[in-house]
Amino acid sequence: MTYPNTLYADQCAPAPAEPPLEGEVRADLCVVGAGLAGLTCALEAQRRGLDVVVLEAERVAWGASGRNAGIVSAGFAAGAESLLEAVGPDDAWTLHGLSAAGAQYVRRQIERLKIPKALQGEGFYLVSRRDREDELKAQVERVSQKLGYELRYCPREEMRELLLTDQYHQATYDPAAFHIQPLAYALGLAKAFQGLGGVIHEQTRARAVESQRAGHWRVVSEEGAVLADNVVLCTSGYDLKLYRKVTRAVLPVATYIVTSLPAGKLLDQAIKTKSGVADTRRAGDYFRRLPDGRLLWGGRISTSRTEPFRLGERMMEDCYNIFTQIGALKASHAWGGLMGYARHSMPLIGQVEPRLWYATAFGGHGLNTTAMAGQLIAEAISEGDDRYRLFEGFGLQRAGGPFRRLIAQGAYWAMQARDKINEIT
Ligand SMILES: Cc1cc2nc3c(=O)[nH]c(=O)nc-3n(C[C@H](O)[C@H](O)[C@H](O)COP(=O)(O)OP(=O)(O)OC[C@H]3O[C@@H](n4cnc5c(N)ncnc54)[C@H](O)[C@@H]3O)c2cc1C
Repeated sequence: MTYPNTLYADQCAPAPAEPPLEGEVRADLCVVGAGLAGLTCALEAQRRGLDVVVLEAERVAWGASGRNAGIVSAGFAAGAESLLEAVGPDDAWTLHGLSAAGAQYVRRQIERLKIPKALQGEGFYLVSRRDREDELKAQVERVSQKLGYELRYCPREEMRELLLTDQYHQATYDPAAFHIQPLAYALGLAKAFQGLGGVIHEQTRARAVESQRAGHWRVVSEEGAVLADNVVLCTSGYDLKLYRKVTRAVLPVATYIVTSLPAGKLLDQAIKTKSGVADTRRAGDYFRRLPDGRLLWGGRISTSRTEPFRLGERMMEDCYNIFTQIGALKASHAWGGLMGYARHSMPLIGQVEPRLWYATAFGGHGLNTTAMAGQLIAEAISEGDDRYRLFEGFGLQRAGGPFRRLIAQGAYWAMQARDKINEIT
């Protein structure tokens, strides 16, 4: 099993495949899923002296963690307003602070582990496709006062100098955000983990998690098993069966990316910022210029697990619809990936049974929150830290039952329709 055909995979020297698990092994902690949630948790637990075994169904960071847009910023998929509404100002302040610390963790690891070419750019604009001057100014104020986080309001004139289209209006700017090459980052974490004696088994799908009489857990794969004191489930949208109480709370949502061939001069005619950009729609576009002169353009959501027909061309058309002047831009790679969403759009972090943990459902805001969750759980297991309990209010609600894909697809269409209505009103 190899990586999907992404620009990131082409840029990374292929790491040697780790052997699948065979026979029964013993560990202090077994982590299921080698995405960024699993890898961060594994690395932090190993750093604290635990013996950790990671089981990965495919390859390290084969899922969303190795295929995303690479924009790292504070916050959660649910958004600041929903967070404030759900938990009130005190907990919202603390939770948002944890999410910001998650972003900083990523930057620190890149520096500490000297991961080459992982840091790719700085800053992030969230731009509106309709005139929302007062709303966005109020939002910047509110985020500063209620969450202690500084954003900058950017008027339309400023945005139109940076993004040469009349489809964008005002924006908020997050100067602390940055961009990474996510696969390089994940492989760097994996290497550091293995350097400390941690073990990864690739092509090893966990089939069952069984409780044992002695208070251990037994994670069973095709050809082996791990007997562990603690288990963390980090399988996101890529597993709907492993441990039903957890997996049924996660809704897989696909989103897509296209990258262009290098075309720096052409891009200068449309996108004059190297910061990342996303529009404020629920199912909006997101993009950033890459260091080698390419454009990375992402967007669209669906419940389909198969790649849409003519994906690259369709994604490029979305881009030309905003920036008509770069119609000559050519696609190099196009791919999709699955995000995991809970009904409340907040991460699912906690214990489903004693010493059986979950860290999943980070949605489209997973680069900072997986780092946060991985650390919280590693610290809970090794040091008894109980900050993970701050997420208890965001429980394992069933995400739609047997009709969840149908319900979700209906919800996306409704979102897209609302986005369209919002743009013209
Ligand atoms: C196209 C795209 C763009 C995105 N852009 C951004 C962005 O710019 N910024 C941002 O913050 N977030 C972004 N995200 C979201 C972010 O990538 C995810 O939230 C995050 O990577 C989730 O990490 P994870 O470890 O929970 O899951 P994943 O990375 O999906 O990892 C789950 C792993 O578990 C493995 N697995 C599943 N079942 C089993 C099993 N039974 N046994 C063993 N292994 C198993 C899978 O193979 C997979 O490797 C984007 C996502 C996508 C898809």
